[in-house]
Amino acid sequence: MKFDAAVATDIGRVREGNEDAFLMESPLFAVADGMGGHLGGEVASQLALETLDVLFRHKRGTLADGVREANRAVFERSTRDAEVAGMGTTLTAAIAAGGQLRLAHVGDSRAYLLRDGELAMLTEDHTLVNKMVQTGEITRDEADVHPQRSVITRALGTEPDVQVDEAVIDLHGGDRVLLCTDGLTGMVTEDRIREILTETTGPRDAVDGLVRTALAEGGVDNVTVLLIDVLDDEPAAATGQGRGADGVGTETIVASGLDAGRPSGRTSASSRRAVPWRRIVLWGTGIVLVLAIAVVGVRAYVDTQWYVGVSSGRVAIYQGVPSRVLGFELDHVIVETSISATAAQQLPPFGQLTDGIPVEDRAGADEVVRQIEADLRAAELERQRQQEQEQRQQQKKQGNAG
Ligand code: MG
Repeated sequence: MKFDAAVATDIGRVREGNEDAFLMESPLFAVADGMGGHLGGEVASQLALETLDVLFRHKRGTLADGVREANRAVFERSTRDAEVAGMGTTLTAAIAAGGQLRLAHVGDSRAYLLRDGELAMLTEDHTLVNKMVQTGEITRDEADVHPQRSVITRALGTEPDVQVDEAVIDLHGGDRVLLCTDGLTGMVTEDRIREILTETTGPRDAVDGLVRTALAEGGVDNVTVLLIDVLDDEPAAATGQGRGADGVGTETIVASGLDAGRPSGRTSASSRRAVPWRRIVLWGTGIVLVLAIAVVGVRAYVDTQWYVGVSSGRVAIYQGVPSRVLGFELDHVIVETSISATAAQQLPPFGQLTDGIPVEDRAGADEVVRQIEADLRAAELERQRQQEQEQRQQQKKQGNAG
């Protein structure tokens, strides 16, 4: 069984940033919808997916274990970084392998299965309105337009532990698995989603069509759509077009996801190009993977680094390292104090403040700031003492002279 996947994300027509995130590292796929302010939302969804990805690549635990670990990562970051306090994210993740789809889910992003023209929802929304539907307070139609329909009852990062929904589904050839954020389902009816999935061929057409429709319907939220097509595992020769001019059999390029926008290679024209293309894609995938691992590694490292430096002429606590790579800053201000940097730099131990004073952790940074404050107070007292002494000597001299 092979998979062909594509993803599309759009900021929408109203929002100023895209707080959705996605992961397409076949066989692992996921979407996340961050919340908690512009910065918090982006950090939460990205951090959750990065954590999940790293654990998966190190083959640690089940998919649900990965989601619980992602919850802890977001929660910890949210409690120690005031800039993103209270952030959270939804997370709907899937592993497509061995004829099965494994799902792990928290929040109101969704997974759907299109099979034989029928669309089935595979996840349950962790929302207030869904609870009200279950208890019979309101109908499903009322839920769709309820003013509190976006209130979610379960998210990643808001508590130290989270309950994760899990499911396993047997896959058939021809199945289409859709992962999406509520930017799609809040705008487009399930009937319309089913139509688009039925009418389109290839995952790229489908995700583009879905996002276009969400935008046409108003696009009031970020929208992210990831589609996995399950292909029958037929041998290439069975298509009757399996051999190109170079005598090498057709290579149906699937499942990497990175090239999901291209034709599937089932025509004779594309099969002739299949081998060089495949090589390019493999190289491209390799380079992208190495870069991605480097970025994740650097970021993980940078997030553990702290220093005290200068921001807008004031002493400030930074997370990261005081340098930039390829134009990207590797640090950001966590706290800007009211202490003048010029005054602090005149204190002997803090002369290299502009270069940054590295510290172990956040507590170490606070300690340095306290030390600067104490030293400045001591220097000020010393200055006053000397002034008074000089005045006294002056008065004494004047007394002697008189
Ligand atoms: Mg959303």
